[in-house]
Amino acid sequence: MLQPQFVQITRQDKIAEEDFYPMINAIYEQIWQTLLPPQIPTDGLTTKVANNLITPPDAPIPDCVTCGACCFALPCVGIRPGEEIPAENFWDITIEGENGEIVVDRYLRRDAETLGCKSLEIRNGEQALCRIYEQRPRMCRAFEAGSDKCRALRRAFGFEPFLTLEEMSEALEKIENKPAKSAPSETIREVKFVETETGELEISAYLKDGAVKPIHIFDPQTETWRQFEFDGLTLSQAKHLINSRKVNFSGNLK
Ligand code: SF4
Ligand code: SF4
Repeated sequence: MLQPQFVQITRQDKIAEEDFYPMINAIYEQIWQTLLPPQIPTDGLTTKVANNLITPPDAPIPDCVTCGACCFALPCVGIRPGEEIPAENFWDITIEGENGEIVVDRYLRRDAETLGCKSLEIRNGEQALCRIYEQRPRMCRAFEAGSDKCRALRRAFGFEPFLTLEEMSEALEKIENKPAKSAPSETIREVKFVETETGELEISAYLKDGAVKPIHIFDPQTETWRQFEFDGLTLSQAKHLINSRKVNFSGNLK
């Protein structure tokens, strides 16, 4: 049974940051209380089949339409700039700044009753359908059916059999010996500050492997900020950079 204040928060369009993260943690705990034991830690598991450590590459790929486990069990799915999601399907997370409200981030909304993604439709108790499939965010697209994380969630929902003790011990050994990812600060080559075609100001990290990751975006028209999961700068550092670059909005910051 959900607490009344919890239901009230999940129905808002804009949620203060200090309310949001405790609520997400509570949703996560509440969902996982109803699931089977995960057997192995799910946090560090890959969402890409090509990066699987545990599942053999030739294992049959499960059918998402009869599943929906990830749409239900992962409560914090970010939406990035340019992703057009219907307004009733997301939340804006806000903090109060000196000049009024500032948008910090945007996430898929959870359903107040089921706690699953609001865009998830369970039809006849059998089919799991995404109501915004064509517009679903990149994070959803990047979560591949058949990946180690997908299968761990499916086991927790009882859609796939538990790992045997032998498989579990092999999996734990592989997870333990997995090469550690380098921290973002070690992989950043430089940070650039550019004006986008839509007039927004984007701070991006250019990584040593050639990838470009947006960190923060500022929209001067609405004076709102967006922050992304690649957390190379704090919001206050980003604001300082924007403020110190009012005349020329492009070029290197380092
Ligand atoms: S990606 Fe995996 S967990 Fe998610 S709906 Fe598809 S089969 Fe289920
Ligand atoms: S937007 Fe669609 S694919 Fe993404 S979590 Fe929600 S129901 Fe699943």
